Order: sequence, then structure tokens, then C-alpha cells
Amino acid sequence: MDKQTQFVLRSVEERQVRFVRLWFTDVLGFLKSVAIPPTELEGAFTEGIGFDGSSVEGFARVYEADMVARPDPSTFQLLPWRDENDPTARMFCDIHLPDGSPSFADPRFVLKRMLSKAADKGFTFYTHPEIEFFLLKGNGSLLSPEPADTSGYFDHTVHGMGRDFRRVAITQLEQMGISVEFSHHEGAPGQQEIDLRYADALTMADNIMSFRTVIKEVATSQGMQATFMPRPFSEHAGSGMHTHMSLFEGDSNAFYDASGEYHLSDTARYFVAGLLKHAPEISAVTNQWVNSYKRLVVGSEAPSYICWGSNNRSALVRIPMYKPNKPSSARIELRSLDSACNPYLAFAVVLAAGLKGIEGEYPLPPEAEDDVWALSDYERRAMGIGDLPHNLDEAIRIMEESELVAETLGEHVFDFFLRNKRAEFDGYRAQVTPYELEKLLPVL
Ligand code: GLN
Ligand code: MG
Ligand code: MG
Ligand code: MG
Repeated sequence: MDKQTQFVLRSVEERQVRFVRLWFTDVLGFLKSVAIPPTELEGAFTEGIGFDGSSVEGFARVYEADMVARPDPSTFQLLPWRDENDPTARMFCDIHLPDGSPSFADPRFVLKRMLSKAADKGFTFYTHPEIEFFLLKGNGSLLSPEPADTSGYFDHTVHGMGRDFRRVAITQLEQMGISVEFSHHEGAPGQQEIDLRYADALTMADNIMSFRTVIKEVATSQGMQATFMPRPFSEHAGSGMHTHMSLFEGDSNAFYDASGEYHLSDTARYFVAGLLKHAPEISAVTNQWVNSYKRLVVGSEAPSYICWGSNNRSALVRIPMYKPNKPSSARIELRSLDSACNPYLAFAVVLAAGLKGIEGEYPLPPEAEDDVWALSDYERRAMGIGDLPHNLDEAIRIMEESELVAETLGEHVFDFFLRNKRAEFDGYRAQVTPYELEKLLPVL
């Protein structure tokens, strides 16, 4: 038994942990949990915990439903919102088949497989997300949600609900070992943003799953509801998850070059070129819901066009300013991702696109200096700036043809994902919306 496992067993005993929750994530990005008493823990480490995966979204065909969850001891944490005197702990799990091989359906495995491809090239992938979400009044109805406050961008209202909320939420995140770099009220009423300090992509994907849970728990405890839905209000901007990224080779930042434009290395430029070239085909994964595409429209501060720029907030990829004497913080920011993606799958396809750019030494198109939202379609086309898919249907059709995404997700997840998303879009397509009734009934 390794040291980490021994540490977990000892902590559970010393802290008198009552339950250990074993967490994993389904293909759509929903957190799943099975609780075991401490007496089962040693067995969970040595043999895993068996469960029937057939009802987990994307996990199994019925004839191979038996799965085994194996806890990762490095992710052991106590849950801060549970009773301190009767503590509950959690660990993320890797999912295996009964023969001990990793399950191809496990999003954590999909990301691990991609990270090890990057490691073969000497790279570690670091990410740092800016996570936006809405706080809603707890008693509002599903069909007419109400923001929990009336503040705006960076507002500091004395009795703003958001501020008290953020203080409690951030304290709990820190208690779980998740460092917060920055937090503020976002542009729309009820909208919040919390930025996590950078970590390797696997830790960060785990952290994002924990983050969503903490945020929802704290909101509920304060009589509110938190939502990561990409665009809950027609009249306000949606919630993005802009993600800053860099590749390190050992201790050195492979994206930094003192003599490069914006101090960016060739590696960083190829990576960005890869993101731009493959953006349409990875879109169904980075923006996976029908609703995701309502966020990616002109005028809502989210990207709709495929271009890059330094400090250009209308671009898909932005090169943020950083302290020039701090090479470690040279990075790029991808602005398409939304807060409701599956972070394991999203980070995997983003990394695959960037690495393809490095492998193929893709040329980086010229920087877009103008506000690309203000250009006409003709001007944008003349500059070679393409569109992100306009809706989930378009995104699925492009993904269907993508070798890059098929290879990254693996056949099982690729097929399940496309089938599931096709069904989502077909269901949506058959809906008659209030918009149509209002516009068409009076005139048709
Ligand atoms: N909410 C915007 C988005 O969806 C971002 C706004 C901002 O961070 N400036 O991407
Ligand atoms: Mg921000
Ligand atoms: Mg923001
Ligand atoms: Mg940003």
C-alpha cells in the first residue's frame, strides 16, 4: 500500500469520518457519487467498488454493465458543508472494467490518455478557468427564474447577496484545497465569477466538478439556487468559462519566449493556430448544450468568430497581459468554453487541437485588431475569419466528420456523445417557443 493510501486510511480513522463518498463523472459532465462506510475503504483501494454502470449516461451497453470504481487517494478531502462532528470525505475515482482495464467510457480516463500523449512530447498542460454562473432567488419558478441581486460588473454593494455568498463559497473551496485567485460580480444581475488558481488539467477538471458542487450547496444553504446554464436569460449575457492555458516542459513555460511577439514562443503560436483551425469540430464538446449556442452570439461578450488577438475581448483566443518579468505566467485564453461543459472531455479536445497545431507547425493567421463584432460579414470573410457553429446541430455535423475528436474521445464516447446530442437537438427542434408565438401568431 502506498503512502498516500496509508495517509487516507489514517485520516479517516483519526477524524472519525462517517462516510466516504466516491465521486466520478458521467459523459455529459454530471457528478455521480456512491457513499461507503470507512470499513469498506481498504477494500475499495485494493479491489475497487463494483457498481452497475448501465444507468450512468454514456457508461455502458447493458451486456457489459459491471464497472469498478477505484478511488484516487491523492484527491482525498473532507466535505466542508457537512457536519464537522460527523465528517464526510470524498475522493475522485477512476472507472475500470471487471478485468482491471480502464473503462473507455470514463471521462477522467479520456483526459488522462490525452495528458499522457502530451507527456510523451515532454509537456504538462496547465489550465486556469474563470467560472461564471448565476445566483437565482430560491423560490423562483423554473420558467421565470429571477436573479438573486440587481448588481452589475464589479459592483460592491454593501448588502449584496453575492458578496456574502462568495465569501462562504471561497472559504469552502479553500478548505477543499482549491485555491481561488479572483472573484467578483459579473455583468448581469445575479451573475458571479470566480477564477481558480492554475493547476494541471486533471486536478483542475476535478476541481471544477467540486466547484460546481460547492457553489450549488452554498447557494441552497442561503436560500438561493446557483446555475451554470450557459444562457438562462435572453436579456442578459450568458456564463462562460474562459480558460487560460499553458504548456510546461519541466519547470519552464514552453509558451514563453523573451524575443517573441507578446513574449509568445513558436510553440504557443502553433498551439493557438491549432485551437483556431479545430475550433468548429471541438465545439460540440466545449459547448455541448442546445443552450450553449445562445451564449455565443454577437453582443453578449462571448466569441462568435474564429480569430485571436492580444487583449481583444471579441476574439476566440486572447493573449492576456502578464507581468513581463514573470515568464511562468505567459499563457493564452480560450473564451469559447462554457461553465456547463464536461471539463475532462473539454480539456482533452482543446489539448488535442493545440498539440495538432504544434505537431503540424500550423501557421498562425494575422492578429485581429479590430472589434470583430463590429465588422460586416464581408469584411470578416475577406480577413479569413470564420464563424463558430451557430447551433448544436451544426456543431454535431462538423464533429461527426472529425478524426481529431474521434481519436481523442475514443470510439465509445464519440458515438455515445453524438447520439445523445443528436437526440437533444431533435427534441429541441420540435418545440414551439414563446418567441415564435409572439412573432408569428399575430401575423400568420
Ligand atoms: N459572460 C461573458 C461570456 O459569456 C464574459 C464576460 C466577461 O468576462 N467579460 O463569455
Ligand atoms: Mg474574468
Ligand atoms: Mg467574466
Ligand atoms: Mg477572461
